[in-house]
Amino acid sequence: MSDLLKVTNLSVHFPVRTRGVWRKTVGRLVAVDNVSFSIARGETLGLVGESGSGKTTLGLAILRGTQPTSGQVELTAATGTIDVTKLDKQALRDARQHFQMIFQDPYSSLNARMTVRDIIAEPLIARRTQKLDRKAIDQRVIEIAEQCGLNREQLRRYPHAFSGGQRQRIAIARALVLHPDLVVCDEPTSSLDVSIQAQILNLLAELQESLGLTYLFIAHDLAAVAYVCDRVAVMYLGQIVEIGATRDVYFTPRHPYTEALMSSVPEPDPSAPLQPMLLQGERPDPANPPSGCRFRTRCRYATELCATTPPVPVEIEPNHFAACHYAKELSLKGALALRNAGQDKVAE
Ligand code: SF4
Repeated sequence: MSDLLKVTNLSVHFPVRTRGVWRKTVGRLVAVDNVSFSIARGETLGLVGESGSGKTTLGLAILRGTQPTSGQVELTAATGTIDVTKLDKQALRDARQHFQMIFQDPYSSLNARMTVRDIIAEPLIARRTQKLDRKAIDQRVIEIAEQCGLNREQLRRYPHAFSGGQRQRIAIARALVLHPDLVVCDEPTSSLDVSIQAQILNLLAELQESLGLTYLFIAHDLAAVAYVCDRVAVMYLGQIVEIGATRDVYFTPRHPYTEALMSSVPEPDPSAPLQPMLLQGERPDPANPPSGCRFRTRCRYATELCATTPPVPVEIEPNHFAACHYAKELSLKGALALRNAGQDKVAE
């Protein structure tokens, strides 16, 4: 499979300013640090890590929702390859049809004053190229709404008349109405009831199959990521510390931070006690990260080398990379709960 998205050495820094009138810049917060990865066409890459690890900032930087400080984001659409980081305002607006985002909160991401029809039609109307007349717009809105499980009658209503799951269906229809190639899903199920989460995950999987979509799936929920993602990237303090096939990362992690994350995956048996591996210490300040390996202040395997030398990602087995000096030597525990539950729970 060819790559749809190629991210190379992407960094996002934010200035740290003093309070008060003059607001002097006194430092910089490195939210995303020199991140590189690619996503093949039709693939789903999961992005996991604790809050503040830089997942959402990375997703936004790929779509230019926030301005990257350096690096490249190349998207290969049917019309050719574009470097998203170099587009001017007008070109970026035109390119947005190729990449869209589904947000976490379907309550705040929909305009309460617009009907569902108008919400879904808005990207079509705002598009500068390939203008459609009203009849063609309505046809396209009905088509994508039905694919997302909404009926024609619902298109006349306002968002407040819908449940959380239905609102997320509206948000998905809006994101897909322009036939995008890449969709960044930022915690698309985390604000929904558990029973509805599975419906939305299944809908995303069906739409990927029928429309040939490529997903970057940002989530906290490791079980959901295991269910929908072909590969997983683990982020810690702005860096990708491990990336590989879902099965490899979950069952045979090679980075100590991934091991700690996987220990928090719940057992399928509700009576089985959860034994998460508690990380020592606080998460370091991203404006002042530790020297050497950024994870060293919380890592149970840290040595003196870790304090002086930043580890670089190494390929442990085909397409499985980890940034740890001891990735080849450590014997780490994976997500046993998922393995016990049956391997069909983890995407091939
Ligand atoms: Fe832990 Fe050292 Fe590996 Fe960092 S490089 S994860 S501190 S063992």
